Amino acid sequence: MKKIALSFMLWIGMALTLPPAEAVPACVDCNVILLSLDTLAAAHLGIYGGSPDVSPNIDRFAKSARIYRNAYAPSPWTLPSHAAMLTGYYPWRMGVHDEHDPVPVDVPLLSELLKRAGYRTAALNSGLYVDREHGFARGFDSFVTSKEWKDAPWIVDEAVRWLKSNHTKKFFLFIHSYHPHEPLTPSDASLAKLDPDYKGSLKSMTEGDLIRLTLGKTSYSPEDLRRISKLYDAGILDLDRELGRFFEELNKLGLDKNTVIVLTSDHGQGFGEHGLWGLHTYDVYEELIRVPFVVKLPQASAKELDSPISLTDLVPSVLATLRLPYRSDFDGKPLPDEDSAITAERSIHAQTAINREFSLPYRLEVKPSDRKKSMAERLSIRKSNWGRIPRTEKSVRAGKYKLILKFDGTFELYDLEKDPSEKTNLSSQEPNVAHQLKTLMLQDR
Ligand SMILES: [Zn+2]
Repeated sequence: MKKIALSFMLWIGMALTLPPAEAVPACVDCNVILLSLDTLAAAHLGIYGGSPDVSPNIDRFAKSARIYRNAYAPSPWTLPSHAAMLTGYYPWRMGVHDEHDPVPVDVPLLSELLKRAGYRTAALNSGLYVDREHGFARGFDSFVTSKEWKDAPWIVDEAVRWLKSNHTKKFFLFIHSYHPHEPLTPSDASLAKLDPDYKGSLKSMTEGDLIRLTLGKTSYSPEDLRRISKLYDAGILDLDRELGRFFEELNKLGLDKNTVIVLTSDHGQGFGEHGLWGLHTYDVYEELIRVPFVVKLPQASAKELDSPISLTDLVPSVLATLRLPYRSDFDGKPLPDEDSAITAERSIHAQTAINREFSLPYRLEVKPSDRKKSMAERLSIRKSNWGRIPRTEKSVRAGKYKLILKFDGTFELYDLEKDPSEKTNLSSQEPNVAHQLKTLMLQDR
């Protein structure tokens, strides 16, 4: 598809529509809180089949909310995924492929749309891609960035402080926390709770440790490999503890009665399923793109839905819930409120332009302080070879099937109902299904 190149003025005058009234429960003039918890793989949370000890507060919050069991990020890394989450468009449609691609100024962010609708807007985040440089500060009255990478305590303190001063007028609060992201440095208390029987000495993993393991430059015992996943889970538990404090404060302020709260993530994290250890970015397998997606609506009953959805659905869904007009050309759609309301024919897409063979050795060799300059040089070389649009790995899910086009041009087809771990490639046995999904993938260019 062509890059979106509509001016904001043109957008104002065209293609506005109101959502079908029955599609999404209404919450007119409600506040909106969006919790984007970076690198939070769905499968590690209790509500998605993980241990209930990892995420007790998230699970409790979700019990009175809508849980979307098959929610997908359109990219396995931070920048393109947030671009989609906050605009309603697939990142490649906006030309957002790598570090140098900000969200185009003529594509409005949710913050801009809500500010125009009279909302007070604030963002608490930890930068690195979700920053001013990449266009994410637009539409926010306040855009404050943490200096801490393990940021959950700071973010919750700041969020509660901001809410106490601003909750009496309708608001949009965007929270982006890097807390579960590598390096894996959980608290001793969470580690002891989740992994009491471990006898080894592994208590943390740096980014370099994880890259060397992924590249096969180091090896670990089976017990230590299992421990690495526990380090990640314990980081989630540290975040969950802070979120418990946050949810409690929301209730004390009475915000549970007039606030739409969305809890999600921009991508997951791999732990050996397809070769990545404590990393993401480089593939579009389930562990990297299946994310939690929980929506709490005041006075709406709890339910769980299996229909596949995309982070591109977030903006149209929020606008539909608030009964605000929105563009009819979003890639996303208002979330289904019943599984029958969405057909199996709907296709959900994901891509990454960052190749692990090329990027991982680079991440290991280049000091973080030199990384920005060297990254620019590396990408300009790649672009001169392959043209402005970089080579990508892609996936499309339709119904129970998922097709992956690998960087090397080969295809993999999986039946996610029978094979949710994507171990048995059916592309030879099911050529007709593979062909149908290839057609859907081509249509999405
Ligand atoms: Zn991220």
